[in-house]
Amino acid sequence: MGNQPKTTSDSSSPDSSAPQDSLGPQDSLGPQDSLGPQARDAGATWLRPPTLLNRPKRIAILGATGSIGQSTLKVIRHSNATSTRSDGKGGRFQVLGLSGHSQIAQLAADATEFAAKRVVCSDPGGASAWKQQGAMPGSEFQVGPDALSDLASDPRVDIVVAAIVGSAGLPSTLAALTAGKVVALANKETMVVAGHLATALAIQYDARLLPVDSEHNAIFQAMQSGKSSQIRRIVLTASGGPFREKSSPDLESVTPAQALAHPTWKMGAKISIDSATMMNKALEVIEARWLFDLPAEKIEVVVHPQSIVHSFVEFEDGSVIAQLSPPDMQLPIQFALDYPERFTGPARRMDFSTAFGLNFQPPDMDRFPALLLGLEVARKGGTCGAVLNAANEVVVDAFLKGQIRFPQIATTCRQILEHHSFDAQPSLEQLLMIDRWARQETRKCIGI
Ligand code: NDP
Ligand code: MG
Repeated sequence: MGNQPKTTSDSSSPDSSAPQDSLGPQDSLGPQDSLGPQARDAGATWLRPPTLLNRPKRIAILGATGSIGQSTLKVIRHSNATSTRSDGKGGRFQVLGLSGHSQIAQLAADATEFAAKRVVCSDPGGASAWKQQGAMPGSEFQVGPDALSDLASDPRVDIVVAAIVGSAGLPSTLAALTAGKVVALANKETMVVAGHLATALAIQYDARLLPVDSEHNAIFQAMQSGKSSQIRRIVLTASGGPFREKSSPDLESVTPAQALAHPTWKMGAKISIDSATMMNKALEVIEARWLFDLPAEKIEVVVHPQSIVHSFVEFEDGSVIAQLSPPDMQLPIQFALDYPERFTGPARRMDFSTAFGLNFQPPDMDRFPALLLGLEVARKGGTCGAVLNAANEVVVDAFLKGQIRFPQIATTCRQILEHHSFDAQPSLEQLLMIDRWARQETRKCIGI
């Protein structure tokens, strides 16, 4: 924190008042200016290409031990082993800091391999487990949730990969934005809970918010072919999850193990359950509303079981632009880390040598009521996102522990939403308060 607010609303030209705390004058080659005018027209200031550097980008990965965190490390490992920057000056990325919560052995192994200068265990009780790993020469170790924000705003860090699960990722993502960082955003809950605050901070401190979520990353890539003012609608694709073809009565008895078995993506437990209920798509509609600064009416969802087309943008003239690739998070992660550059990375590629089909169908809101909830919350805004997210985190955890049935996830979320006292423009303090309220009410409602 402690960064100077940006004083002008126009960041398309070099700005001497812009925060420079992560860059010495010798590091920066200035704003990306090798692009045509359309590529720069991403609309929102936080989607503009970051400042070009003449050295490897220094990265902090918050949630490094999780699914997205590990995929990020694979991209960096591959990139540093195989490719150099386009100007031929060494590796692209340097891991400056890593955080984990419970998987301390994994955190220690990664910190050693990547020679991380800073390591955070966000669980306050993690110090003794860290000691057992043996001292890591050259790295500074901190415990507790506040250390995440400290790492996110380290002046040496260029890019913060926000890959913590749940609203636990909110404070550190906001801290990164306040420090004017490039945030590669996987933690969709930040936008669901506090999208209006995150984007306001990004404008104020000239930070970037680049999507890692595959649908949003696809939309961001498709947006490069037109002007944001020419977008008629965006269409998020949804795999439909493991229960796409199950009837409502069958959904009553599905087990956590069945819900965790996603047909196309390998992900952490919470997002896997969210995919099974289609709450994940609900959260993504809200995420898209804020990230692309679009009214909810311009955001739609289509079920696409193959997870090859990652989303569409339809422009005013009727052209629909899509991004295709096999389901592999390494590609959107890589795109966010090196935007607007592209390089040969480790992600799987399309194979057109054998026949395959792509299917699309409208979502069934009766069987997957969580999706309808997401569309309503995206329209209403205010405190609704924080309430929906908090209630969902509690019921997902309860479902995983066998305490509630699958359909109760969506019905409980609706009940809590309908009972909360709505505020259209909540402050961060109000959001944190309503998050606590919603968690308590949800526990009461399901009797745990
Ligand atoms: P995982 O559960 O695999 O990983 C979560 C990470 O957060 C781990 O590093 C975990 O540490 C850490 N963590 C857990 N609890 C806390 C806490 N209370 N405080 C701080 N850190 C904590 O999740 P995913 O990687 O699947 O998802 C991460 C985020 O990315 C989510 O917001 C998800 O919606 C989003 N996302 C994920 C995708 C995917 O393919 N996985 C796709 C698109 C978005 P530890 O493991 O050490 O306990
Ligand atoms: Mg997604």
